Order: sequence, then structure tokens, then C-alpha cells
Amino acid sequence: MHPTLAADLANLDPLLEQVRRHAVAALHGLDDRAAAQAPVARSASALPQHGAGLAAALARFEADWQAGFSGSAGPRYLGFVTGGATPAGLAGDWLTGSYDQNPTAGIDSAAPDLEREAVRWLRELFGLGDDHRGVFVTGATMSNVVGLAIAREWLGEQRGVRISDDGLAALGPVTVLSGAAHSSIYKAASLLGLGRSAVRTVALLPGREAVDIAALDAALAAQRGTPVIVVANAGTVNTVDFDDLAAIAALKARHPFWLHVDAAFGAFAALSPPHAGLVAALDAADSICIDLHKWLNVPYDSAVQFSRRRDLQQRVFQNAAAYLNVPAAAAEPDFVHLTPENSRRLRALATWFSLAAYGRDGHAEIVQRNIRLAASLGARIDATPGLRRLAPVRMNVVCFTLAEAPSEARVQAYVRTVRDSGDVFVTPTVLDGIWAVRAAFSNWRTTDADVERVAAALARAVP
Ligand SMILES: *Cc1c(COP(=O)(O)O)cnc(C)c1O
Repeated sequence: MHPTLAADLANLDPLLEQVRRHAVAALHGLDDRAAAQAPVARSASALPQHGAGLAAALARFEADWQAGFSGSAGPRYLGFVTGGATPAGLAGDWLTGSYDQNPTAGIDSAAPDLEREAVRWLRELFGLGDDHRGVFVTGATMSNVVGLAIAREWLGEQRGVRISDDGLAALGPVTVLSGAAHSSIYKAASLLGLGRSAVRTVALLPGREAVDIAALDAALAAQRGTPVIVVANAGTVNTVDFDDLAAIAALKARHPFWLHVDAAFGAFAALSPPHAGLVAALDAADSICIDLHKWLNVPYDSAVQFSRRRDLQQRVFQNAAAYLNVPAAAAEPDFVHLTPENSRRLRALATWFSLAAYGRDGHAEIVQRNIRLAASLGARIDATPGLRRLAPVRMNVVCFTLAEAPSEARVQAYVRTVRDSGDVFVTPTVLDGIWAVRAAFSNWRTTDADVERVAAALARAVP
């Protein structure tokens, strides 16, 4: 063994204790760390020839890098839709690396069964029936990719061909209909060979980001019985609007389509009684995308993917190889046959820990508090001269802009000024052609005091 490696092994206890102290200090420091900061240019350094050992590597990280990291795990990072890591979620993630399991095949470890348990807990959390089978993937984008890959195989089944064997050419052009699809749906269409132009935008309800059901009905009728994919959106990123999932599912009685629901963070409406009705029909979907590193507050990278057609999923992701010794026809297929990855980390462990530690109630409290805090920030923005709210605060996102001349340049400059305050991080967007700002609440640590600090920083930055 390399002597430095041997020394680190011999000193594992004190070394990991040092890392633990660093981690705890970083977590306690989140209140003081800038929510975000502009990256500075750095000069490139050469690959270390000899290596310095873990303690020196930690010292080098502390000296060179840690100060430049954002407070994205903290309470006032309101950009994108960003979760932190609950204490138990973090512990699960630490142990994921410690045990370093590869829950691919079920012949060597209980790890795949732990993943199945975590999936079943999530199915209950979101009120899905037994027909939905799930698997962990790296994030909502990959969950959308897997869902649409199964949809693509289903389209082939409707036309009597197997895309997984014969390729996309056997299928011909594909249509994906959606109201306000997330950008990752276009990425998925590109990756899956459907093409970004396969995604056709269906009209939205006036002043909303929810699809107009009559327009969707008409778009489906125009297909004259040709099966298509419908992507319904449960929680849009700008205004957290929801398509009417029950009404879309009801259209299946008259038109053939695969219903994929992108509920990346909107699925968590199930944990807020006033909002739960928005996702009551989620179970009617054929495939569902739910992110976990957002509102479940487990570390990156984690999402779950549900679908009703495991048989089609297995056809797409089947990975037969003698050396893997995994019979694909088992009642519970091995994970190697269900997702793009073969080897994969036991990312289910962080979710398992957080659900075991805090349960439905604990996670519902996070969701309900975030929703309440978003409403509170919305009210403060209404009372702030120079800012104008652009949409109702439907759930956990406040979408607003500069009251005067919200051009791209002025809004981008405003967002940079806010970032450089260090108090809060928000991200720009465009809503109905207007440059705007989003503040999205999904971190478990955020409090009323944070909202006060955020509101003050947003007001100070008005030009
Ligand atoms: C965040 C998000 C995604 C993509 O999620 P990643 O975790 O970044 O891959 C997809 N759809 C919606 C609605 C989202 O909010």
C-alpha cells in the first residue's frame, strides 16, 4: 500500500474526527456564509505527484476552496428550487459513502431491499397506489428522461414495434404535448432521439401556467387517434402552477396517450392540506418525476421515478451480461435493468434516514413552513416600493420584478446586487415576456427571521 494511504488508514479515527469538525463548523457557519457569491478566476494547478495525505488535503481545501462555496445548503439560498440536507439526510449520505454499496443486483447485499423500502415509503408519502413502481435516479431531469423513455417504448407498443430493439426509426415522428414544460423535458426529448421540436406547446389558461384543458383536448383530437405523450406539469418553476391532473387523465377515455407528470417539487403539495387536492390525481399518471434533493432536503443527487409499466421499463434498460449473473425475469427486477446507470450509489439511504428520522409529520412541517414563509415574503414585497409581484404566491415561490422598467439588463443587475449583498440568493426568469425574479422556498432551515433579512436585502437592492 502507498505509505500515505497506509498512514491515513492507520489514523482513520482522528482524521475523520477532523473532517467531522470541519463539517459541523461549516453547517453552523451557514448563517454567516454569503448565500451566494460570484466565482473568482483561479490559476490552474498541476496534478499532485506524491499526494499530501488526507489532513493536508483538508487544509488545502480549507485554504483554497471552502471560502468560495455558496450557502446553498442554508436558509436564504432561494435560487432555482434548492433544498438543503436535514441532519438525518446528511448522515445517510455520509454512510452511503462509508458503506459504498452498489445496489445493482440482488445477490450480495441487503442494500437493494433498503432502496425498495425507501421507494415504498415515498409511494405512501405521495399517496400513490401499488401499481406504481419506483427507482432512485440522480435528479428530476433523469427522472423525466426515464419516464419519457418508457413512454417512447409504449408508443412503439401501440404501433406494434419495439423501439428498444428496432430503434427510433421504426416509430417515426413523435409528438409530446405539454403546457408549460420544464426545460429538462426538451433536454430529455433531445437525448431520447425524439427531438426538441417534438415537444409542442399547448395553450395555457389566461394569466396562468396551467394548460388549457379544452386546448389540450383539441390538440389530442387533431392527432386523429395517433398515440402521443402528454407531459402534465405539477408545480411550474415560476409560479408553482398545476395542470388539472384529473381532467387530463379523464381525456384518456377519448384519446390514446401516455401521461407523464413532472411533479419535481409540486408533488410535495400532498403534504400541505390546503394544497393536497392539486396532486390528488397524481396516481393516474403512467410515469411520475419527483425530485428529492429539492423539497425532501436530502443532499444532491437524488430523485425518484415512478411508473406503472415496469415491463416496458425493463425492455428499455435491460442490461444482460453473463458476468453480472442477474436474471432479468425475476418478480423484482434488479435495478441494473431499470435505469440508465449500471453501477450506482445507494442514494436511497439519505432518503431512508430522513424519512426514518422525521417521518411524514416532520417533512410536512418543512413544506408547510416554506409555504407560509413564501406567503410572508410575498406580502412584504407588496409593501416594498420599487418592487412589484407578478403572480399570486400559489405555494413556495414568489415571482416579482422591478416596478420601473424591468428590462433584462436592469433585472440581471438587480439580481447581481442582491447576490453580492450575501444576504440572499434569487434567480432571474421571464414570465409572460417580462423579466422577473424568483424566490423559491424549499430549505428546511428557513425561518421568519430569514424572511425579514431577505425582504430587507431585496428592498435595499432596488435601483
Ligand atoms: C428542478 C426541476 C427539474 C429538473 O430537476 P434537476 O434535479 O435539476 O434535474 C425538472 N422539472 C421541474 C418542474 C423542476 O422544478
